[in-house]
Amino acid sequence: MSETPVTHFSGWGRYPRIAGRQRYGENLERITKGAVLSRGLGRSYGDASLPPAGDHVVAVTTRADRVLSFDRDTGVMRAEAGLSLAELNRLCWPLGWCPPSSPGTQSVTLGGMVAADVHGKSHHSEGCFGAHVLALRMRVADGRILDVSDDSEPELFRATLGGLGLTGHVLEVTFRLRPTTSPWIEAESERYDDLDALLDALAGASLDWPYTVAWADLSSRGKSRGRGILDRGRAADPKDAPRSLPVPRRTFTVPVVCPALSELTIRSLNFARFWGRPQRRLGIAHPESFFYPLDVVGRFNRLYGRRGFTQYQAVLPARSGRAACVKVFDILDRMKATPLLCVLKDFRNEGKGMLSFPMHGLSLAIDRPMCDHTQAVVDAMNDHVAAEGGRVYLAKDALTRPEHFHAMEPRLDNWLRVRRIWDPDSVLKSALSVRLFGDAR
Ligand SMILES: Cc1cc2nc3c(=O)[nH]c(=O)nc-3n(C[C@H](O)[C@H](O)[C@H](O)COP(=O)(O)OP(=O)(O)OC[C@H]3O[C@@H](n4cnc5c(N)ncnc54)[C@H](O)[C@@H]3O)c2cc1C
Repeated sequence: MSETPVTHFSGWGRYPRIAGRQRYGENLERITKGAVLSRGLGRSYGDASLPPAGDHVVAVTTRADRVLSFDRDTGVMRAEAGLSLAELNRLCWPLGWCPPSSPGTQSVTLGGMVAADVHGKSHHSEGCFGAHVLALRMRVADGRILDVSDDSEPELFRATLGGLGLTGHVLEVTFRLRPTTSPWIEAESERYDDLDALLDALAGASLDWPYTVAWADLSSRGKSRGRGILDRGRAADPKDAPRSLPVPRRTFTVPVVCPALSELTIRSLNFARFWGRPQRRLGIAHPESFFYPLDVVGRFNRLYGRRGFTQYQAVLPARSGRAACVKVFDILDRMKATPLLCVLKDFRNEGKGMLSFPMHGLSLAIDRPMCDHTQAVVDAMNDHVAAEGGRVYLAKDALTRPEHFHAMEPRLDNWLRVRRIWDPDSVLKSALSVRLFGDAR
C-alpha cells in the first residue's frame, strides 16, 4: 500500500484541481479504510472523483483488477472494482462475450462504471450498465463490508448504482456480459445536412441497430446548423469479419498542455470533421474505433489549454420535442460558445439506479474549453434544461449549482434519505457532494 503526499489532482476535464492524498494498493479492503472516496481511472470530467479540498484520502482502485470468477455458459463475471474496461474487453472478446454497455472510453474501471451507472451507444437497446449488475461487495461508511443486490439491502444497491461513490466503496462487482457473434462491428456512417434529417435518422436507426450515436456540427450557420454524422453498428456476421481478433490500436499522446483553443480553431475542426467523412461509409470496423474513437489520442484533455475544459451533458425528455434541443443551440450561439464536440444520443428507459442519469429523450454532450463565461453558459443551459424537466449528468459536471440540480431531480430526496441511513455523518464525501449536497469539508 502506498500513499501520495497532499497534491493537487483533477478529473478528465482538468478542472477543478483539488488537493488531497491518493492511496494505492491491491487490497481494496485495506486501502478503503478511512478513505472518504474511491476513485478509478479519473475519467469523470469534473469533481465527482475528487475529495473535498484539504487533507482527505481517496482510495485509488486501479491496482485491484483481478477477475474472481467467470461462468462461460452464462457470461456472469465477478471481478474487483479496479478492473478496467480495456482489460475486460481483452479478456472477453476471444471468448465470444462483450460488455452490454460501454462508455465512449475504455479507460474506465468497473467501480467507475457502477458509480456513474454509465450508458453507451447501446442505451436504447441495453439500458445502463447497472441493469446488468447482479451484486456488489462494498464497504459502507461505518466500515462494515456487505454484499448487496436486489435481494439483499436492495435500497443501498440501487442508491449505489449511479451514486458516485457516496454510499460506499465498491470492492467487487458481479455482472452479466452479453454473448456476441464477433467483436468486430458492422458499421455504417452517414452525413446529414441539417438537424432534422440527423435526428430523424438517429431515431430511425435506433429501431434496427443496437449501437447508435450522432455528432452535430454547431459551428455552421442557418439551416445547416446541427448538420452532422450518424454512426450505427451491430456485431459483425463472422463470415464478413476478419478471422483474427482485434489487436489494440496504435495510439499517440498529446505531449504537452496546448494553448487555449480559439473560436476559429473550434469552427475549423468542426468543419473538417463534417467534410472529412464520405457521404456514406459501410464496412467492418475495429471495435475500439467504433466504441472508443477518442482513445486513439492519449491525454487528449491537454488539447483544451491550461484552464482545462468541461463537458456539459444533459438529457431533454422526449415530450419536449426538438424545439428544446434547438433552444440549447440558440443559447450557445447567443453566448458565443461554439462547442468543439456535440454528441447526441437517443435514450430510452430510466436506469435502475436511484440517481441514474438517463431518461427517455435526447442526450446532448457538449465540450467547451473553460473560459471566463463558462459558468454563465452552464447556468443558462441549466435554467432551460430544468424548465423542460431534463437533467444533467453528474459524472461530467463541475459547475451545476445546487438549486438547479435540486430542481431537475425529483428523485434526489429519496436518494439522500438512503444515503443518510447508511452514512448519517457524511463520512463518505467528495468535492461534488460538498458543492451540490452541502456536505462539510
Ligand atoms: C472520452 C470519454 C468518454 C466518455 N463517454 C461516456 C459515455 O459514453 N457514457 C457514460 O456514461 N460516461 C462516459 N464517460 C464518463 C465515464 O464513463 C465515467 O465518468 C466513469 O465513471 C469513469 O470511470 P473511472 O473508473 O474513470 O471513474 P472515476 O472518474 O475515477 O470516478 C467516477 C465516479 O465513480 C466513483 N468511483 C470510482 N470507483 C469507485 C469504487 N470502486 N467504489 C465507489 N465509487 C467509485 C468515484 O468516486 C466518482 O464519483 C466518458 C468519459 C470520457 C473521458
